[in-house]
Amino acid sequence: MFGSPGSGKGTQAKLLTRRLGIPHISTGDMLRERIRLDGELPAEVGTAMHSGALAPDQLVNRMVEDRLGWADAAAGFVLDGYPRTLAQAGELCRWLDGRGVREVVIYLAVDYNSIIARLMGRRQCPRCGTLYNLVSQPPKVDMRCDRDGEALVVRDDDSETVIRERLEAYERQTRPVLEFLCRAGRRVEEVAAGADPPERVFERICGIVANHDRA
Ligand code: ADP
Repeated sequence: MFGSPGSGKGTQAKLLTRRLGIPHISTGDMLRERIRLDGELPAEVGTAMHSGALAPDQLVNRMVEDRLGWADAAAGFVLDGYPRTLAQAGELCRWLDGRGVREVVIYLAVDYNSIIARLMGRRQCPRCGTLYNLVSQPPKVDMRCDRDGEALVVRDDDSETVIRERLEAYERQTRPVLEFLCRAGRRVEEVAAGADPPERVFERICGIVANHDRA
């Protein structure tokens, strides 16, 4: 699942993994989890993430390769937030080709103004991780999680300066990945994801994935 921060990758990846019964592999979640749980990552990684910069390629590549080796990924998986740099894309393509695994890259296309509005309105439940958006997906009760009633918070990396840095990192390091994948003849499908509700976007994605299975 490919797209800028705020394009809805996480939401769509979750819907798709539920539909297909395959794992959702989000490098952002994995990195946050590692930092929170065991502090096993060098402090610089947390600092970089909090300021909107990327974690080092070598670390992320190793983490993903390890995860892809788990038994639950043998029948397929949805990658969310990876690959995010050319070095990561090269590594992933080698991994896929080495095993004869076919991919489909779903590029969620969203205009810049919608991205900004979405990122600024994002709130998260600190207990269960559910994401909300004050504009497009508000909670039922003001600022409280629908699932557990916890008060919603702004994720550290959703503050305004950090949002700007994340978007810059996307333009500088991640957008070139899309061009690389297209040039390399990978299957890239663009999905309009700026105006419609998540369920409509998801229908489009399901159509693409169904074709992919038949191909
Ligand atoms: P978003 O897509 O909304 O930016 P993520 O949860 O995917 O949020 O990522 C949060 C942060 O985790 C990123 O800003 C970056 O610092 C780090 N991160 C996630 N995936 C990668 C990756 N593939 N390579 C390097 N850093 C990553």
